Amino acid sequence: MSYLSERVLKWFDQHGRHDLPWQCNPSPYRVWVSEIMLQQTQVTTVIPFFKRFIQHFESVDTLANAEIDEVLHQWSGLGYYARGRNLHRAANVIVSEYAGQFPNSIEDLIKLPGVGRSTAGAILALAYGQRYPILDGNVKRVLARYHEVYGWPGNSDVLRQLWSHAEYHTPHKRIADYTQAIMDLGATLCVRSKPSCNICPLQNSCGAYAAQSQAQLPSRRKRNPLPIKNIYFLIARAENGSTLLYKRPPHGIWGGLWSFPEINANKNVESWCQDHNLRQVGELLQHPVLTHTFTHFRLAITPLECVVVEDERSVMDPDRWLWYNIDNPARIGLSKPVQQLLRICSN
Ligand code: SF4
Repeated sequence: MSYLSERVLKWFDQHGRHDLPWQCNPSPYRVWVSEIMLQQTQVTTVIPFFKRFIQHFESVDTLANAEIDEVLHQWSGLGYYARGRNLHRAANVIVSEYAGQFPNSIEDLIKLPGVGRSTAGAILALAYGQRYPILDGNVKRVLARYHEVYGWPGNSDVLRQLWSHAEYHTPHKRIADYTQAIMDLGATLCVRSKPSCNICPLQNSCGAYAAQSQAQLPSRRKRNPLPIKNIYFLIARAENGSTLLYKRPPHGIWGGLWSFPEINANKNVESWCQDHNLRQVGELLQHPVLTHTFTHFRLAITPLECVVVEDERSVMDPDRWLWYNIDNPARIGLSKPVQQLLRICSN
């Protein structure tokens, strides 16, 4: 066992987290759901979502048989919705190709939508006790600092080095504990800014601590400022207070979620309404701009609200359009800005 793994395991026994909801009854299904949720989200945020999700979809079969709208409804507010769509797709693969039995080999696991090498390693280590390394964001940070690996971890050479360190330190015994321990150490002590080196079990052998280079590691990617995309949301409200939403295509941003219609500029509201067999009957109200940041760009949303009535000849495809009533909400997936605006406009 390496010095690092020995120290980390000792620390885990005393200070690690042993009562996370996915740690009790760590079935492959529960570990998989938690690992996907934790990919871009912190533990404290994930816990209530995980509990609710598992309550609704208690097995891979239940998840596979659920409507995607219901899955995205349960995912609403957690962000990075491709993760929810991939869980649903992967559940269907497990049911159709593996007769509902969760795969237990790295080759099969990494074929599932949304499962990369680190997630597959975590499932094998935590649920099956198999010796596979993991390299999620927390572990990358610990190893980049401990071994002073410079360079952005997204770079393939840097990643190769980090994987070889991860492989080396993964012990032959207590695999599940070590996997949880190294993730916990990264999440609670070796955090991005102001790591708690003074109470870290690795302090006396950590390269970054010796060189006081913690703040520079892991190296950040050099980026240009994110471009800004301007859009207008049309919050079209019926006289009974319901709001018109449409279902976004399954791919791309907010894929499969329900959203306000987007229009090019406020002068087009009237013609947009005409094209959709609606008539604007009230003033157009412009709300303050709302900004939402994605990985590659920022969205500056100008919400425009008005009351509309449907023409008699209006026939809206119910698979694409929906009058959403906030007092009796449909069970569908909504992005954060849409949830926020629905709340604002209902007050
Ligand atoms: S000593 Fe500091 S930088 Fe090194 S692993 Fe521990 S917390 Fe991270």
